[in-house]
Amino acid sequence: MTEFKNFIDGQWVTSGKTFENRNPIDNSLIGMVHEANAQQVDQAVRAARAALSGPWATMKTPDRVALLHAVADGINKRFDDFLEAEMMDTGKPYGLASHVDIPRGAANFKVFADLIRNIPTETFPMETPDGGHALNYGIRVPRGVIAVVCPWNLPLLLMTWKVGPALACGNTVVVKPSEETPATATLLGEVMNEVGMPAGVYNVVHGFGPDSAGQFLTEHPDVDGITFTGETRTGEVIMRAAAKGVRAVSFELGGKNPGIVFADADFDKAVAGITRSAFENSGQVCLGTERVYVQRPIFERFVQALKERAEGFKLGDNRDRNTTFGPLVSREHQRKVLSYYEKAAAEGATVVTGGGVPELPEALKDGAWVQPTIWTGLPETSPVIREEIFGPCCHIQPFDTEEEVIAMANDTPYGLAATVWTQNLSTAHRMSAALNVGLCWVNSWFLRDLRTSFGGAKQSGLGREGGVHSMEFYTELRNACIKL
Ligand code: NAD
Repeated sequence: MTEFKNFIDGQWVTSGKTFENRNPIDNSLIGMVHEANAQQVDQAVRAARAALSGPWATMKTPDRVALLHAVADGINKRFDDFLEAEMMDTGKPYGLASHVDIPRGAANFKVFADLIRNIPTETFPMETPDGGHALNYGIRVPRGVIAVVCPWNLPLLLMTWKVGPALACGNTVVVKPSEETPATATLLGEVMNEVGMPAGVYNVVHGFGPDSAGQFLTEHPDVDGITFTGETRTGEVIMRAAAKGVRAVSFELGGKNPGIVFADADFDKAVAGITRSAFENSGQVCLGTERVYVQRPIFERFVQALKERAEGFKLGDNRDRNTTFGPLVSREHQRKVLSYYEKAAAEGATVVTGGGVPELPEALKDGAWVQPTIWTGLPETSPVIREEIFGPCCHIQPFDTEEEVIAMANDTPYGLAATVWTQNLSTAHRMSAALNVGLCWVNSWFLRDLRTSFGGAKQSGLGREGGVHSMEFYTELRNACIKL
């Protein structure tokens, strides 16, 4: 049985208290996780602080870039270990984990390392009152010790999306992976030692949120910035913790994203696109589509086509290469998603497909499975349409006009992403401007150029990550004014 230990100052640290890590495919025990106590979190933060003035601080930029490339190569060298770890923790199918999670998780180190070599800062020459001149220029310095608090849906990818730029900018990190998915953050500790990352630059503390590693870390006064991906509710708690000492935060939070299909869309591509946005990773993608709006002339045909797609998934053991649909991350999350399935039925939704737990072979019966589910017929005021479910489900609503669909799409406290399907160029541009979201895809979904901004409007986030935008959080910008 695997033991998941804390990784502090380059060493493996056990604790007196462990918790179980289970595989959501069949609820089998993967191993035991060592929950970091307050002293161990403190030790990790101190190690990160000390590393800010060690060899990491004096390392020349090209050497830091080379080391981060080595980290990416180190992950790829152990691709199968990372793949197996991620598949066991999350239950996600081989096809998805091998094409998205691990390669993109590794690539994050290279992308941000390369970026850091090419970012200029501003310069302003000025005339001074005495008739002379002065030169202003910006200097970027690392923010310091960064707490990285992660969710479970794309564990390696979303963690390195933060650790990559944080280290590229010269910070040190203490990572708190989700209690559901401790494995890949732990494995990354091994890679860090293998490639010669100075001790204390990358630390991992395991545990839960309240009264555990999450709280100890985010309340720690020697943390300079907190970057968090997870639920909006948790973001509020972390923001309160960050207020003490006025620490910086960067938040990627929840969503209730609209998918909008106009009658002039390429029908097959729109069906394929919404199939992905609603059901990929069993609906556990923050950018996923749980509200679908389809223009009335194609409504019935679209509902039928999406139903066929939803019923075409192959559920099963995620090591089987033909499996296209996995379980939810945990039985606790299964209970939450099923509660919305019950709510939808109780509110009188038409259940187009799904709505319960699928029939599966005996060996998988204890896993966290739910059926891909589609509803129609609910009012926009229903909690099923207003609250983030984070499951493989969507409600499809007909609409007539562009104004009407914009109003419905924007009527939410969230504002993360949208996917719009149309062949009319003007509609595409108008919708992109009218939807109050951080990311608007037209005729695509989850198509990411890592140089572009990523983040949510309203209660979906605070700040932007990606490309130069990541630098805003991971560095402190100074102005130097030199009188000439
Ligand atoms: P969560 O908020 O329950 O947990 C996220 C992390 O926060 C975990 O590591 C958890 O242990 C920790 N945590 C919980 N309470 C804490 C506290 N009081 N103090 C400090 N840390 C605490 O979220 P989750 O269930 O792991 O992830 C799913 C959520 O994440 C969904 O809402 C989803 O939309 C969101 N998400 C957003 C994005 C994005 O980019 N906007 C990406 C992925 C997931």
